[in-house]
Amino acid sequence: MPGKIYFIDVTNRDGVQTARLSLSKLQKTMINMYLNDFGVFQSEFGFPTTSHETNYLRANLELARMGVLKPIRLSGWIRATEEDVERAFQMVPELEYLNISISTSDQMIQGKFNGRKSRTDILEQMVNASRAALRAGIKGLGINAEDASRTDIKFLIDFATAAKEAGAERFRYCDTLGYDDPFTIYKTVNQIAESISMPVEIHCHGDLGMAVANSIAGAKGAVDAGQDAYINTTINGIGERAGNADLVSCVLAISKSKGLSGKYKLGRPIVLNKAYTLAKYASYAFGVPIPINLPGVGANAFAHSSGIHADGVLKDPENYELYNYEELGRGEPELVETGRLICSGEYSGISGFSHIMGKMKVTFANASEARRILELVRYANVEAQMPLVEDELLFIARYPEIARRLLTLTPLAD
Ligand SMILES: [Zn+2]
Repeated sequence: MPGKIYFIDVTNRDGVQTARLSLSKLQKTMINMYLNDFGVFQSEFGFPTTSHETNYLRANLELARMGVLKPIRLSGWIRATEEDVERAFQMVPELEYLNISISTSDQMIQGKFNGRKSRTDILEQMVNASRAALRAGIKGLGINAEDASRTDIKFLIDFATAAKEAGAERFRYCDTLGYDDPFTIYKTVNQIAESISMPVEIHCHGDLGMAVANSIAGAKGAVDAGQDAYINTTINGIGERAGNADLVSCVLAISKSKGLSGKYKLGRPIVLNKAYTLAKYASYAFGVPIPINLPGVGANAFAHSSGIHADGVLKDPENYELYNYEELGRGEPELVETGRLICSGEYSGISGFSHIMGKMKVTFANASEARRILELVRYANVEAQMPLVEDELLFIARYPEIARRLLTLTPLAD
């Protein structure tokens, strides 16, 4: 059986680590909802050892149990130490999936630990952390080799083999600095996948402008070796420094490109016509415009002005378009209010709120229920510091108890 390609989106982990950007806990939850609708296999949904994440993580795991966030997997991310594993399970006992991370390159072993750790120590620490996670009842464990692209391949294979023997289900190859190119990553991942006979995650950054190309080449390397590949992405490529591999671009590359289309199969069907909604929401929540030339979802992705192109596309879109905008969920007119606007805010009152909800055909059983939802909406505005979108208001109205938990932050509780 040839391997398949899956997507693990890391917007809620790597994306929110981006300097000067952040998401509220409700926004992170909405991202998980959109990723689930889009067909993403797993969302790396946050940091189980970080106290302000606890209520959010537990509330999202509750949504999974309720069947709302299903079938997407929600996976936490921590450092590969026994202490962090234990702390993660104390803080989020319901955790089912986890990725644990440790640096593997000599540069980072020397540069971060100042000679206090050897390669043997790194292996031992990772194995001990893995065993601790499995003892705690984790259902699926991924082992991350940070800076894998600058790590000696023989050591990487030893590392991944030890992880597999300890019970890990996947090995994550991190091109942490965006150092690989499509040729090097194909060869390296292919060789690793062949040696370890285990699914490989590909985690790429865009410091040299190759995050998407490298992700695809790495995935091809794993699949060609008979293993499943799990591409790590973020929405709109948001991520540290020059960003991560853009989710929609990776999907398009696998499903539409010359060498991959029809030959490389996705492990879970992608609902491509949700792409535009997903990209627009992340752009709004992060406060970062979608680049106009972003594949599929950018404002110019289907725009033509020059004579030859406009004439050609009008005669037959396939002359100058590789895929159709409708496939990405584009083409519907968007309503922008140019007159009076009533929107939600942290000081909203019942009259304005009822007007907004009434426009969405949401009614309440009685006045006290309406006031309760309004109170949650006010708190959501305090956290987000921007008017809520319709899907967020609907979410709060539909799952008020979950919203209450998401919005509860209790600093210095212990
Ligand atoms: Zn990263």
